[in-house]
Amino acid sequence: MSKIESLEQFKLVKDSNLGFIVFSNNTSKTIHRSKCDSITESKFSDNVDGFHWFSTIGMAKKSFGIIMCDACRPSD
Ligand SMILES: [Zn+2]
Repeated sequence: MSKIESLEQFKLVKDSNLGFIVFSNNTSKTIHRSKCDSITESKFSDNVDGFHWFSTIGMAKKSFGIIMCDACRPSD
């Protein structure tokens, strides 16, 4: 598990198109492909503490009780 610490790091993850991003807030945790259009810079800026990156979906699932994004339907 790797917390996304800054907007620069967030942009690198998005541009790399590798792995998966978990977005969590008080009510839910959702996993996305790194390129998912629903994960935006403004969303990151609004909730910097809510984003983690994982290289595989298996690692993400183990770390959180996760809901799959209905938009991008992430899988390995
Ligand atoms: Zn998504």
